Amino acid sequence: MTKSGFVAIVGRPNVGKSTLINTIIGKKIAITSTKPQTTRHRISGIYTKNDKQIVFIDTPGMHKAKDLLNKRIDRLAVRTLRDVDKILFVVDKEIGMAEEHIISYFENINTPVYLIINKIDKLNYKKGRIDKIILSYINKYNFKGVYPISAKENENITFLMNDLLKDLKEGPFYYPTDMITDQSEKTIMAEFVREKILKYTEEEVPHQSAVTIEKLEYNEEYKQLDVNVLIYVERESQKRIIIGKSGTKLKEIGKEARLDINNRFKVKTHLNIWVKVKKGWTNNLRDINVFGYGLDD
Ligand code: GDP
Ligand code: MG
Repeated sequence: MTKSGFVAIVGRPNVGKSTLINTIIGKKIAITSTKPQTTRHRISGIYTKNDKQIVFIDTPGMHKAKDLLNKRIDRLAVRTLRDVDKILFVVDKEIGMAEEHIISYFENINTPVYLIINKIDKLNYKKGRIDKIILSYINKYNFKGVYPISAKENENITFLMNDLLKDLKEGPFYYPTDMITDQSEKTIMAEFVREKILKYTEEEVPHQSAVTIEKLEYNEEYKQLDVNVLIYVERESQKRIIIGKSGTKLKEIGKEARLDINNRFKVKTHLNIWVKVKKGWTNNLRDINVFGYGLDD
């Protein structure tokens, strides 16, 4: 009989949730960024070992939402927390308002929550700092366990994984054993492009951009994957920023995204990227759904 379970990963933007999923799975499936609010999709990382399978869900949202796009993402987060077997609450410093806000979500659900102190590699914490961080949280909520880790340097991850695997209940495998994410190839490629936009642009530009893959075709003649990418932005000025002076920024975005795709799918790739202005898309329900950020129902 197999054992299985679902684990949601939540936390303030930038604490290392996507990095943690990538480290656990051992491959890049979720994009990471130094900028907040990167994750829009509910990304699943599927970990299978022997007779056990854990599906990790990188939960976006959980900040006070303003526009329609982010309100939808927030509702999705709440539903996820109710449905999973365990929640990993990732933090990288003492409790603040954002963390208290997230803890308020836990109060109305029965799912057990584990406190994960990430980035212990760079905390080169003065003695007692980790204890201080832990203390600031355990007064506020009854966590089932506490794990100091480094997602980036792969510290204490085995320890955490062993505990998660130990607690699994009997259940079916939800995905084939060789599957590591439920995201389509197109979604992953679009996300790689979005990661570079996040890296190379500032302020509202990354948050008002959406990326779609318009064509994905293997070219027999050139033995390469032809990928047409469309980047949507809200304004003409944002288009100019993404393209950059005589196209230099878009070139860099394309180059790095292409390398990620080559790496991930082990195939030579040719990327064509266009940028298009679509005014008001972040507040248009139809566009939000078309870009893949709608709810499942
Ligand atoms: P998310 O917004 O919670 O998904 O955070 P990301 O996974 O995108 O990470 C945000 C930033 O923190 C990135 O620049 C990561 O490289 C960095 N980061 C994540 N985990 C660690 C860690 O364990 N140690 C250090 N030093 N940096 C980390
Ligand atoms: Mg993320």
